[in-house]
Amino acid sequence: MRGALGGPRVLLRRLREVMAERVSAQERLDKIVVMIAANMVAEVCSVYVLRVDGSLELYATEGLSREAVHQTVLGAGEGLVGLVATEAQALNLPNAQEHPAFAYKPETGEEIYHSFLGVPVLRAGNTLGVLVVQNRAHRTYSEEEVEALQTTAMVLAEMIASGELSSLARPGAEPAVRRAVQAKGLALAEGIGLGRVVLHEPRVVVKNFIADDIQKELKRLDQSVDTLRASIDVMLEEEGMTRAGEHRDVLEAYRMFAHDRGWLHKLREAVMTGLTAEAAVERVQSDTRARMQRQTDPYLRERLHDLDDLANRLMRELMGADQFPRREDLPENSILVARNMSPAALLDFDRSRLRGLVLEEGTATSHVAIVARALGVATVGQVENAASIADQGDPIIVDGDAGEIHLRPPAGIESAYAEKVRLRARRQAQYAALRDKPAVSRDGEQVQLLINAGLVVDLPHLKETGADGIGLFRTELQFMVAATLPRTGEQLRLYRTVLDAADGKPVTFRTLDIGGDKVLPYMRSLEEENPALGWRAIRVGLDRPALLRIQLRALLHAAAGRDLRLMFPMVAAVEEFESARSLVERELTHLRRHGHALPEQVQIGAMVEVPALLFALDEMLKRADFLSVGSNDLVQFLFAADRGNARVAGRFDALSPPVLRALKAIADAGRAHDKPITLCGELASRPLEAMALLALGFRALSVSAAAIGPVKAMILGLDVGKAEKMLAPVLLERDGDRTVRERLEAFAAEHGVPV
Ligand code: PEP
Ligand code: MG
Repeated sequence: MRGALGGPRVLLRRLREVMAERVSAQERLDKIVVMIAANMVAEVCSVYVLRVDGSLELYATEGLSREAVHQTVLGAGEGLVGLVATEAQALNLPNAQEHPAFAYKPETGEEIYHSFLGVPVLRAGNTLGVLVVQNRAHRTYSEEEVEALQTTAMVLAEMIASGELSSLARPGAEPAVRRAVQAKGLALAEGIGLGRVVLHEPRVVVKNFIADDIQKELKRLDQSVDTLRASIDVMLEEEGMTRAGEHRDVLEAYRMFAHDRGWLHKLREAVMTGLTAEAAVERVQSDTRARMQRQTDPYLRERLHDLDDLANRLMRELMGADQFPRREDLPENSILVARNMSPAALLDFDRSRLRGLVLEEGTATSHVAIVARALGVATVGQVENAASIADQGDPIIVDGDAGEIHLRPPAGIESAYAEKVRLRARRQAQYAALRDKPAVSRDGEQVQLLINAGLVVDLPHLKETGADGIGLFRTELQFMVAATLPRTGEQLRLYRTVLDAADGKPVTFRTLDIGGDKVLPYMRSLEEENPALGWRAIRVGLDRPALLRIQLRALLHAAAGRDLRLMFPMVAAVEEFESARSLVERELTHLRRHGHALPEQVQIGAMVEVPALLFALDEMLKRADFLSVGSNDLVQFLFAADRGNARVAGRFDALSPPVLRALKAIADAGRAHDKPITLCGELASRPLEAMALLALGFRALSVSAAAIGPVKAMILGLDVGKAEKMLAPVLLERDGDRTVRERLEAFAAEHGVPV
């Protein structure tokens, strides 16, 4: 065996020459395997390429039978080569045939070779193929040799990724690198987006792999690591001045890794094999990514992510910052792909060029998902490895309704989706035409149609939809998407902006509804066994009134000279409502005494979302100016089924007699007390459910902006009196054969109501 360090360097230089030669892809591969075999004093060197069908095809060999090239195919995970591919790890065996995974392929003639060294051909942590050397003698390859072969595999990775090998493939058996990927995730924001991948944190593309001067590369590496360490120290200092928290933990982890000897040793070793500093970082990073993808322990996975982020920073340091695409340069029809993203980062992008968002993380309640919904950007979360399987500029489809993505979709899928998008646009145009039509049913019942909102980006929806106002303004959203607690001034500014945008239309502000699943990153949260039943919403507001009073003051200031509608979330007892109401009166007195301008009128209401209030409706209605039903929570508590838990959330139908009877009791009580009742949960946003609500007596619905059109279309086609007559007996007696939903559907079909 040659000098372990001299060897790979010589090899890399020769590989560079071969890569530059103007020869066919097959000739180039053939030359490469001969060169590697000679350099490593191996009798065999073979390249296997991972195909779209998951199998591995022999693309070139020196030493095995030439006839086997493009003939020998190993099934997914088959043989030692399959094992290297699935584990994404080197396999070094003195006696390969004794290994339980060994698969004998007679056409190759490999039975005479005993020792085996296989390394994965990796790119961004994904296996593209396997590079193998074999010898007759029983021998274990040295660590330097393993390292050298891995370095060589990088050059092959670039060759496969470039698409050069596709010309050698049979149709349907192309290299997997550019394969179409369909992945299931979590639907976070509805809509369908067709476009091209824009990586939120673009991978730095290394062009120059092979070092001219190793000493120079080592020096570059050392300098960049020093700069990186210094920049982390600066970030930590800045962080220390603002707040402590999760972000600090991440930075601490960065600092630890940046000083980790093992990591630095690996980087230097990779440079010693002849790579440029940036190629060395990529090599080590690719290993990290491969390990990350197989790691199931969430803590370790997170740490590997940190290490990956750190390597990214180092690469940028080495290659200059101009690798970042600037936000202003976002191309048309962009689909952002990221591991995760802060809401602020999403808001920074030009919405008009954004068609979708794909995240590796993200849950329905994550802040970025809230913002994505407000912006109307189709979003899918929980897509494993999205950011490493997608390449900049790849065609991609985001289906935020079904919660799936199609990366590099085949033509059939793409045209089917394009048709869907066209259809949607046509329907949207029809709804837009209803914009200025009042929501009056065929039999003359007038319905107040309002929207739910919570962020400034929601406000244009008021004009776009022609809604009658904002029926639920979730004030906690401002708190949830902010990095720090919004100050009084910021709250005041938002509320004023909202009232200005509403331009006289009513806005119902709900006071802070935090706790439960609504967590503020900068506030210490309590460990609670049952957070949904815990210390949340108005309970926090009453126990720690400072926060609530600041908010009330901001609201009262903002509404000076105008009408203000306030409501409290999660009220469970009449006394809670009274206490909250008296806080408002105290603030009003305070403002009056100090000569501040006051709102013209203050209306105070409560959300009905805790079942106990169903049995206190008369007392509540005597004290409140209005009530608003939060059906999301009310239904979750009625059935004792967590609204965020997919296993149970769909188990019970809200369109069932118990829920409908409860809702009817609220509507009836409102009428008896002559007090307005609104329903602002998701229930009202679905036309069939909204139809049932009208039949129960509701005349004010607050829905998502996207639902205004479909719900209004339903109202315009409905005879409410007939619907009431149909529903009344259903509430009294069960119909053994059909569910309420089925009966409502049949009614809608029979009367041509668009639901
Ligand atoms: C509800 O519970 O129905 C509601 C409107 O409030 P939120 O979804 O914000 O809990
Ligand atoms: Mg609620």
